[in-house]
Amino acid sequence: MRFFRCELHTHTTSSDGSMSPEELVDRAVECGYDAIVLTDHNTVAGVKRAISAGKNRGLTVIPGIEWTTFWGHFTVTGGTSDVLWRDITPQNVDAMIKRAQEKGDVVAVAHPKRMGFPLCSGCHCDYDPCKIKGANNYEVWSHYYPNEGVAARQQREQWYSLLSEGLRIGAVYGYDWHRRDDVPPSYAYTYVGAESASEKDILSGLGRGTTYITVGVLADCAAVCEGREYPIGSVLPKGEAEISVLCERIEDYRSDKPDELTRAEIRTDKGVTSAPIRFGERIKVKTTFEKYCVVEIYGKRKREEQLLAITSAFYAGGICDDHGTRRSAGNRA
Ligand SMILES: [Zn+2]
Ligand SMILES: [Zn+2]
Repeated sequence: MRFFRCELHTHTTSSDGSMSPEELVDRAVECGYDAIVLTDHNTVAGVKRAISAGKNRGLTVIPGIEWTTFWGHFTVTGGTSDVLWRDITPQNVDAMIKRAQEKGDVVAVAHPKRMGFPLCSGCHCDYDPCKIKGANNYEVWSHYYPNEGVAARQQREQWYSLLSEGLRIGAVYGYDWHRRDDVPPSYAYTYVGAESASEKDILSGLGRGTTYITVGVLADCAAVCEGREYPIGSVLPKGEAEISVLCERIEDYRSDKPDELTRAEIRTDKGVTSAPIRFGERIKVKTTFEKYCVVEIYGKRKREEQLLAITSAFYAGGICDDHGTRRSAGNRA
């Protein structure tokens, strides 16, 4: 398994983006992505063109859609769902998420704490938090300057509170890519762990929650439990593990690169363990937890201390399937 650079949230002229599907694909190739998901608002009109352009350029394009409702947005990845956005209500949103997952799609809560600007209906997620818990993933970071500002802080807090409840919900980033940015402002990547960059493998990595989000840092993290190594998103046989972390710079990162790393934080429902970390040096940290264990990487960027990467969680005490990984749908603990 290796980690592939993905962008899970994009738009084209088929909704309110300014790039055609072909232009989006060209730009994604220039930016070094392995795979993108096309998630136009409530339409799949651009998907065929994007897939065919992706085939010509060697880029995996995964069909998707952004359910854009009055009470919140979701990216739905996989292209098999038959749910119509206008049928989604605050009362049935949990059932609609489940229905999409049963068809094989992976559902993420999109930019839940972002205020729409200036008239973006439903950017801010106003669904009852109880009704969106079944989503596979959660955009902990989104859009420009993803690791800074109020929305980022609130989204991270809400995601941790979901993990504290024992939910298995992965961390993803959504660029919410609408325009061609010749000089990209600060943005992040979602890396997805998979056997290959094929649509099927990336989708299955997303379903398992084998993901991390990052501004400029490659984070190779795994958990060793009872002598066996598990990838991010795994359900470990018990909540006792050695977490191994190795970070490198993303050399072709087009925004401000981190200057240096300062620490890794191993964050669990039991507390936080901090360990110094530098580029290129693997660290190993022992931890115990009952529900979840997340790795956060901190360092200096733009001359200030910043949170640079967040992994999805390792989970404790679940019943392991063959791969020791989280089930993709109906992922409640
Ligand atoms: Zn949206
Ligand atoms: Zn969007």
